[in-house]
Amino acid sequence: MQIVLKAENITVKFGGVIAVNNISLSLEHGKILGLIGPNGAGKSTLFNAITGFAPMSAGKVTIFDEDITSQPAYIRTRLGMGRTFQTERPYEELTVLENVLVAAFLNHSKKNDAEKISLKVLEKVGLLDRANQLSSDLNLARLRRLELAKALALEPKILFLDEIMAGLNPPALKEMINLIQGLTSTGISIVMVEHIMEAIIQLSDHVIVLASGNKIAEGSAIDVINDSQVIDAYLGTD
Ligand code: ADP
Ligand code: MG
Repeated sequence: MQIVLKAENITVKFGGVIAVNNISLSLEHGKILGLIGPNGAGKSTLFNAITGFAPMSAGKVTIFDEDITSQPAYIRTRLGMGRTFQTERPYEELTVLENVLVAAFLNHSKKNDAEKISLKVLEKVGLLDRANQLSSDLNLARLRRLELAKALALEPKILFLDEIMAGLNPPALKEMINLIQGLTSTGISIVMVEHIMEAIIQLSDHVIVLASGNKIAEGSAIDVINDSQVIDAYLGTD
């Protein structure tokens, strides 16, 4: 099995606060790694460190056997990392298509190429019929799919999804779960922060649980949700 991503002993400090404490993880080709834990556990910060959006105090990040620890975010993007942000950030005055084009232009300078990719990913996420609508007119479910489309327009080999399903109603959730499942069959490997256990259980090949910056458990979804330490820290006795 090919390891596409390896993060070793990642630590991120904000002043005196250790947001991420000595965390290691690895991701296999075509697999989904779920990252769960209570609010403030350090999940988004770990994402930011791995994708180059937050400075690490210590640690090493390798993708496809290349050490990228000192590479800026845009180089990591070029090497195959794509991500969504927990708070979706569309350019509200741009159309859906234009929003995706902005991402596509990061790796393609020719307008034709960028357009071709953008239309392809809009079709994939089911937003092609909304291409010329302003992104400010989208509902939450469609905004989330736009966020996914922007990440896919980077043609990532490794995709990082930060709570892309939060707040979705059951039909929209089911759609998103199917969509993400389908991505792995196209060879994309995924790291996913998610609170919705249904999604974690259905999608994750492996789960890591963070609490207060520390890794408190890891294993299959079923193993970790039955772990007493995880139940205490996160899930509650219900
Ligand atoms: P999660 O995504 O698991 O909810 P975060 O990674 O957002 O957690 O936050 C982890 C910890 O780091 C929290 O205590 C948070 O307040 C702190 N933190 C996150 N980002 C910053 C920042 N830019 N500056 C200072 N502290 C931060
Ligand atoms: Mg977060």
